[in-house]
Amino acid sequence: MALIKCSECGSEISDQANTCPNCGIKIRKDNKKVEKFLIIGIPILIVVIILVAVSIYGANAKPNGMDKDTYNLGISALAITDDYLDAKISSKDAKLKLEDIENRLDQLHFTSKGEPTDSLNSSLNLSIRMGISSIVTNIVINSSTPSIGSDTTESRNSIAKTLNKRER
Ligand SMILES: [Zn+2]
Repeated sequence: MALIKCSECGSEISDQANTCPNCGIKIRKDNKKVEKFLIIGIPILIVVIILVAVSIYGANAKPNGMDKDTYNLGISALAITDDYLDAKISSKDAKLKLEDIENRLDQLHFTSKGEPTDSLNSSLNLSIRMGISSIVTNIVINSSTPSIGSDTTESRNSIAKTLNKRER
């Protein structure tokens, strides 16, 4: 137990006292602690909030300059492949759905003669399509278990990389 000076009347009082026994004023001994906590705590809290917001935004952002249709088709391909790898959909369903996405990508950013129309999106589109095509090639229809080889996971991850998504 230490002695402190009453800020009002100046008499020495216990630091444990809630009021000054001399003048009766309330002792606000916790103010400094609260102040310190706020000075250090609030900036830390703000930094943490910013970091969380940036990481959430980063996880959801499409790569710079990527066209929304290409991105959305790529995300669908990734979801279908994950369902297939997790054995949530059949080989047949996975194959049909992936081929459908492949066909839809084929109509974006390429002329009917197959010439690229937009250097960035044509190449992103092509890289997603190549990933899908290699996954489809590896799918064995009528197999009782999903044909999951390292090739399939590798192709899945190359699509994920193009889309700024997590690899597995
Ligand atoms: Zn006092």
